Amino acid sequence: MTKNAIKNFMEKIAERDFSFCLTCQTCTNGCPCVSLMDYLPHQLMRLLQWEEFEEALKSKAIWVCVGCNACTHACPMGIEIPEIMDILRQEAIKVGIIAEKDIYEFHRQMLLSLKRHGRVSEFELILAYKTKKGHFFEDITLGLQMLTKKKMKLKPARLKERKKIRAFFEKCPL
Ligand code: SF4
Ligand code: SF4
Repeated sequence: MTKNAIKNFMEKIAERDFSFCLTCQTCTNGCPCVSLMDYLPHQLMRLLQWEEFEEALKSKAIWVCVGCNACTHACPMGIEIPEIMDILRQEAIKVGIIAEKDIYEFHRQMLLSLKRHGRVSEFELILAYKTKKGHFFEDITLGLQMLTKKKMKLKPARLKERKKIRAFFEKCPL
């Protein structure tokens, strides 16, 4: 990361209260995703306190976090870890360090579907994601079962007021 990029990032992340983290690990103890993380939530807070930003941006943990808020509810200092994870993901995309490319692609296809229809079409999302990743026939049996049991629709449901949704994307392009 360049000095300028680090400075901008520090300004953005400084508004979050990670400096008050006590390393008590309560967040980690309640997090449902720790088994998939390289750095645990409390360790990520420590990395930020040490200004090891690049290491934090390179971590898989920021992509594995599902934003469930369990950590924030349990944290004695009320630190908003999911928001910090959001900032880290945005920054990782900006500087081109994406540790979990499949998760990133899934998020991207979901937002593209939301932009098109005003809500996410599961069928379109899975089709676009699988095509992009070249895993077209993987899970095809499961997909067919979902279609026959009407758990997934072929035709996307479209929101009438999707212009309003598109206006969000104009402000925050993908
Ligand atoms: S629960 Fe809060 S104070 Fe404790 S380690 Fe996690 S972020 Fe830090
Ligand atoms: S928001 Fe993320 S870090 Fe916090 S408990 Fe949920 S998955 Fe874990």
